[in-house]
Amino acid sequence: MNIVSIYKKFPTDLDCIKHLESIRWKDKVTCAYCGSAHTGTHNVKGCETRSGRRFQCQDCNKSFSVTVGTIFHHTHLPLQKWFLAISLILNAKKGISTRQLARDLDLPVKTAWSVGMRIRKAFKSEEKELLKGIFEMDETYVKNAPQDRDDDNDRKGGGHSNKTHTSIVAFKEKDGDLKAFVTADTTSITLGEIIFENIATSSEIHTDEYNSYKHIRKFWNHKTVNHSIEYVTKDGIHTNSVEGFWALLKRGIKGNFHWLSKKHLSSYVTEFEFRYNNRENELVFGDVLGRLLKV
Ligand SMILES: [Zn+2]
Repeated sequence: MNIVSIYKKFPTDLDCIKHLESIRWKDKVTCAYCGSAHTGTHNVKGCETRSGRRFQCQDCNKSFSVTVGTIFHHTHLPLQKWFLAISLILNAKKGISTRQLARDLDLPVKTAWSVGMRIRKAFKSEEKELLKGIFEMDETYVKNAPQDRDDDNDRKGGGHSNKTHTSIVAFKEKDGDLKAFVTADTTSITLGEIIFENIATSSEIHTDEYNSYKHIRKFWNHKTVNHSIEYVTKDGIHTNSVEGFWALLKRGIKGNFHWLSKKHLSSYVTEFEFRYNNRENELVFGDVLGRLLKV
């Protein structure tokens, strides 16, 4: 949903409230405090404002609105601005900087930053089960922010020294989702742990010939492509999708964020991952609202 549709569909805070109610409760309102379904209808008097549209629980006797217990509750920001922020972040293929978000929504930079970070929190995947299938996997490095460069001098990692770069590892299921992780390094132990925690051993994993992947063939069906010779083997082994994701991520970081501290890199990587996995999901806006109501 783009910002024009947001203005049309949710012109007032009350329209936003009604939409959140339909996502949170569908047809059955339940008490935000005790979960009881004996809530009656919302107060008729004064219900045309955000704070007035409240329900009364007949069991615990508390009154509540749809935002109780959610990140929208203690915010004075109009809900329409939250909706617009979600739309701007979802539609910015290469991400949007906090300053841009602040300008577009006419907000102080600090507020825009906090709204952006809360929305990013909702992008985190809750997947717990091991994945099965055919995966491509690759690693990359992004330059550290100047304040991070002197950290971790003595940590021994693979690839670049940790003084100047942070490593990111991603795998993508064939015709499925991509998952990316900010890691301390790209040693065989770190990569092995990520695979072990996420991918079932009956799976097939495609990588380049980087040394740290060599050991995984003991447990997984491991196939490689030698990038000094070709990008796709004659058997169709490649890591091109993950590399396409790196290109997007790096252009986004360079264009919008200039420097990202290690502390926040993870949430931006999650944002890019979420947008990439939902690039063809037409219902993504509602999905994000649903996630925000649970955060
Ligand atoms: Zn109750």
